[in-house]
Amino acid sequence: MTDKRKLSRETKLAQALGWLESSHKGVIPGIYPSTTYEREADGNYPSGRIYSRDQNPNYDQPEQVLCDLEGGSDALLFSSGMSAALAVVQALRPGDHMIAPSVMYWSLRNWLKTVGTEWGIDISFVENGNLDALKEAVVPGKTKLFWMETPANPTWEVDDISAWAEVARAAGAHLAVDSTVATPCITRPIEHGAHIVMHSATKYLNGHSDVLAGALITAEEDDFWGRVKVNRNAGGAVLGPFESWLLLRGMRTLAIRVERASVNAMAIARHFDGHDGIKAVLYPGLEGHKGHDIALKQMSSGFGGMLSLRINGGEKRAMAVAARLELFKRATSLGGVESLVEHRASIEGEGTHCPPDLLRLSVGIESPDDLIADIEQALKETN
Ligand code: PLP
Repeated sequence: MTDKRKLSRETKLAQALGWLESSHKGVIPGIYPSTTYEREADGNYPSGRIYSRDQNPNYDQPEQVLCDLEGGSDALLFSSGMSAALAVVQALRPGDHMIAPSVMYWSLRNWLKTVGTEWGIDISFVENGNLDALKEAVVPGKTKLFWMETPANPTWEVDDISAWAEVARAAGAHLAVDSTVATPCITRPIEHGAHIVMHSATKYLNGHSDVLAGALITAEEDDFWGRVKVNRNAGGAVLGPFESWLLLRGMRTLAIRVERASVNAMAIARHFDGHDGIKAVLYPGLEGHKGHDIALKQMSSGFGGMLSLRINGGEKRAMAVAARLELFKRATSLGGVESLVEHRASIEGEGTHCPPDLLRLSVGIESPDDLIADIEQALKETN
């Protein structure tokens, strides 16, 4: 008999762990819209479910798949990546200190700097890649959470998860990693010592730009995780049953989509590295990227589908290039099967760390030759 624990990631994903739908043995789960479950005359709930705010059966399979993929002990789905991230931050108590990198997903950074701080969470931002600054930022007895994102939006800095985990453990704190861009097909942060992995499942996990979702996976079901669970259960930032069903459907093709997007991104990165229209290609897969050595250590099966191009000629030309792209759609977000382009500095606005000449590309699964030709024609027309 097959030892299911030894099956490859691709097999587990394609079969979503091989679960069968309980009533009819369907290979695809049903959609369970009921918000409430019957209680027996004796007061028990034989189904083990009371109310669907966070007990909907449609969460079970995607959560189990994520747990398995990340090597965790428990997983939770949320209504968005942001609500997943906030469930972790809000597990802190007023007066607790947390550390986050200066380059990270813009909206979360903004929330931390504004609402998070007003709520009494003390936050230090440290330069990505600077381990000395990380150690110096620790406030003994107060630092309870390290938040990292790798590769980090939108310049794709790569931070060393095991080095951060060591500092976090020495401080008696938790390390949470936003691994949205790497996906569990490329990096498994728990293997490198992280306590919690976070995903904007809106991106690669779902992969089709049609579901907003988030996920957390924990290495251990400890007290901190207990507080995160209360935040979901009481806060109710949960995914609807149909969205959970769609997410599982998307996750079945995760491995193949991530593999293709990585191959395409690498082809684009190599083609435009040293190109006369391009000032710099920011992609962890390139030998010249400053995080390449760490990337080799903690990323496998490719370097992901996200890269940025810094355009020669500054902001004006970068905007003009984006305007002339035809296959890359000008839209925010990432991780879908279709390629997107975004001028991040103008989206992030005041206080952005993003260079004004930078175009962020979310590389999809189209033909790499078509994508390269699209960028070439846009550069040529703006020359
Ligand atoms: N983390 C990263 C790296 C992201 O790119 C995003 C969204 O763009 C988020 C978190 C937030 O996710 P969501 O939009 O699902 O709330």
